[in-house]
Amino acid sequence: MATTDDSFNGMTEHCESCDLDTLHEVSVQIRTESRKEENAQFSREPYRVSECQQCGHRTSQRMNNA
Ligand SMILES: [Zn+2]
Repeated sequence: MATTDDSFNGMTEHCESCDLDTLHEVSVQIRTESRKEENAQFSREPYRVSECQQCGHRTSQRMNNA
């Protein structure tokens, strides 16, 4: 399923906090994870973040399968 990153992305998903299927706002965040100082290497990982519009509970999951 291909999604575009247009504006508001509302999806009905299960909220573990509400224990219900609720409307979620879904977005993608790029988080920079810094490694040890020795190797000034930064990895940027995309995370899919969904926020329950009922209670504000957020879940995030890494989109890259390691
Ligand atoms: Zn909720």
